[in-house]
Amino acid sequence: PDPGLIAAIKTRLAAGPQPMLIGGDWTQAAAGQTFDSHDPATGERLASVARAGSEDIDRAVAAARAAFDGPWGRMRPAERQRILLRLADLVEAHFEELCILDTLDMGAPIRHTRGAKDWLLGLLRYYAGMATALYGQTVTPSTTSDIFACTVREPVGVVGAIVPWNGPLIASIWKAGPVLATGCTLVLKPSEEAPLSPLRFAELALQAGLPPGVLNVVPGYGHDAGAALAAHPGVDKIAFTGSVPTAQAIMRAAAGNLKRLSLELGGKSPNIVFADADLEAAVPAAAWAAFANAGQVCSAGTRLFVERAVHDDFVAAVARYAAGLKVGSGLDPATEIGPLVSPRQLERVRGYVAAGEEEGARLLAGGDRPTGAALAAGSYLAPTVFGEVADHMRIAREEIFGPVLAAMPFDSAEEVLARANASPYGLGAGVWTRDVGRAHAFARRLQSGSVWINCYNVLDPALPFGGYKMSGFGHESGTQQLEEYMQVKGVWIAG
Ligand code: NAD
Repeated sequence: PDPGLIAAIKTRLAAGPQPMLIGGDWTQAAAGQTFDSHDPATGERLASVARAGSEDIDRAVAAARAAFDGPWGRMRPAERQRILLRLADLVEAHFEELCILDTLDMGAPIRHTRGAKDWLLGLLRYYAGMATALYGQTVTPSTTSDIFACTVREPVGVVGAIVPWNGPLIASIWKAGPVLATGCTLVLKPSEEAPLSPLRFAELALQAGLPPGVLNVVPGYGHDAGAALAAHPGVDKIAFTGSVPTAQAIMRAAAGNLKRLSLELGGKSPNIVFADADLEAAVPAAAWAAFANAGQVCSAGTRLFVERAVHDDFVAAVARYAAGLKVGSGLDPATEIGPLVSPRQLERVRGYVAAGEEEGARLLAGGDRPTGAALAAGSYLAPTVFGEVADHMRIAREEIFGPVLAAMPFDSAEEVLARANASPYGLGAGVWTRDVGRAHAFARRLQSGSVWINCYNVLDPALPFGGYKMSGFGHESGTQQLEEYMQVKGVWIAG
């Protein structure tokens, strides 16, 4: 990236507390509180950010309600569509800046976010297109006559979106696109770990012509801003992405006014390699399934099951591949593995590495901080591969959210299917095979919201993404995501 652009971004961030956006105004917190954002590659303080508390949530929800009842609610869909298309053009024009913000704020390698460009712009344009295609149905009643009946799909109202830090730009666009397309208004609470690109995204949305109050961005902590939003009686729906314990707290908080909920949660996704697969392709793919974004991906393929006949060679090759990945600052376009989001997250993940060793798994690659003076101040962990893992070990059961892969052999299709499904989660699953019958059978029988055959973590605006079991409910992407933000009315007109 252009060093001039990085310097300009840092100067802007250092200028003073970054304000939040409420009702079209850039404002500090009512209680005057702020929090700091740090660059995990260096530990350097990047910015101070206005920290929303419950008063700010009240103001943001009131602004979102006023916009819903006012200009946005009355706007023709074609005009909403034009604004979303303008927003997509602005995001495209400023994409490099948005990528740099994510790298500085939470460490993602710039090549990771750059790689999501077509998909993210595609999402905004896909949902812009949908804004004028939200049809109802006409129904011929079968038990009455002389009555015309139809359904009308209407926006649910004010949506609160609570998102994690692992893809702040991705999360902002993934929530905002369909929310705005359906005519809802949005209060977006970014993670306290990564508020910067959501704020910049909102600035572009205003520039695109979004009326005040349609998109409000209130950075803050989960236990105050997040909890206040989840409990707020003026919010009609919470769209949450994050961990299971937080989802459970949000469900309880949302019970007060029976808010609609969609929950995009974590996983411990299996990636299954049969001996007949294209193993040359499967080796790097298995590593990337687990290590993209330093493993901080909800659908990371962290349980690698390999058919016994090829297990030893395959796992050794994955370990060699992992050891060769370039770890470093995400601002370097050659970097493949950036730092974890924070020193706290690094310690958490190192705790899992220690647990793996204690429980008897064999460390085949990584396991520690990488060496080198340039990396000493950052929250780096070398990509880590464990072999001889057993299903009962913590590293095979719990979501680690770091670059740690657990490899295990299997002997038969039935056995691996049962083991893959024996998890409380069900977000993603990969299968590598050239046997088309087996591919179909596994696609049907794996209990997960996405199944990737001979590929992994592929996403498209038109294909729904979501969880089975404790990975949540509701969808992102596709026409399915639109349903999350609409309600259906039945209308009867007698002659
Ligand atoms: P988290 O659950 O700790 O936090 C997510 C968001 O919830 C943050 O904005 C946080 O401030 C807020 N929050 C925390 N406590 C809250 C409360 N009591 N009430 C309301 N809001 C609260 O998750 P995280 O550590 O930021 O992110 C990692 C988790 O997110 C992982 O489990 C990962 O799998 C999951 N994730 C899922 C998806 C998906 O699409 N399924 C995508 C990315 C991340």
